[in-house]
Amino acid sequence: MEDIKVRKKRANMIYRILDPVYTKEKTALKFNNPFELLIATILSAQCTDKRVNEVTKKLFKKYKSPEDYINVPQEELEEDIRPTGFFKNKAKAIRGCCRALIEKFEGRVPSTMKDMVQLPGVGRKTANVVLGAAYDVPGVVVDTHVKRLARRLGLTDNHDPEKIEKDLEALLPRKKWRRFSDILIYHGREVCKARKPLHESCKIRHLCPSSEI
Ligand code: SF4
Repeated sequence: MEDIKVRKKRANMIYRILDPVYTKEKTALKFNNPFELLIATILSAQCTDKRVNEVTKKLFKKYKSPEDYINVPQEELEEDIRPTGFFKNKAKAIRGCCRALIEKFEGRVPSTMKDMVQLPGVGRKTANVVLGAAYDVPGVVVDTHVKRLARRLGLTDNHDPEKIEKDLEALLPRKKWRRFSDILIYHGREVCKARKPLHESCKIRHLCPSSEI
């Protein structure tokens, strides 16, 4: 395995080069409190942030608390979130999560990883998104883009998201964890795409062990 010092250097250089490229304003999900962010994050699975924001603009006026999501028939919630896709599963996930919030956390979104992952359907990825943006708790978010780029960039040898999370956290200071995930997500969407990575226009090509794939 490559020396950790070499990986650290590469990760920090990638951060330095791409940080100014993907400006913070592009961070997209809109929310006013941790509960809204949790709902928006559940809705964002397999959906663009833009579409989620269109839906939540109305949704958050109608549903303000976990009780509100439970007190309507499931079909009504499904209709309200239909444009985000997979609306039946998402409605079920949202209601399950709301029930657990009421039963275990007095209706509030918890602020630790240990508590967050007790919510049904909430894995470490969603938990890190919510903890980072709502409570400023540092964490690396490992979604499909981060997973792919971390491996292509030689920052991990693992496939398991939890192990990748730990590997990336070992390479950068805590204050950079969350931002690094965002950078990799943007770079994955715009340049280092799953099927056809745009090596030619990639600003970190000189650092990338997979630049010829
Ligand atoms: S050089 Fe290619 S594989 Fe490496 S990060 Fe850039 S686009 Fe991805």
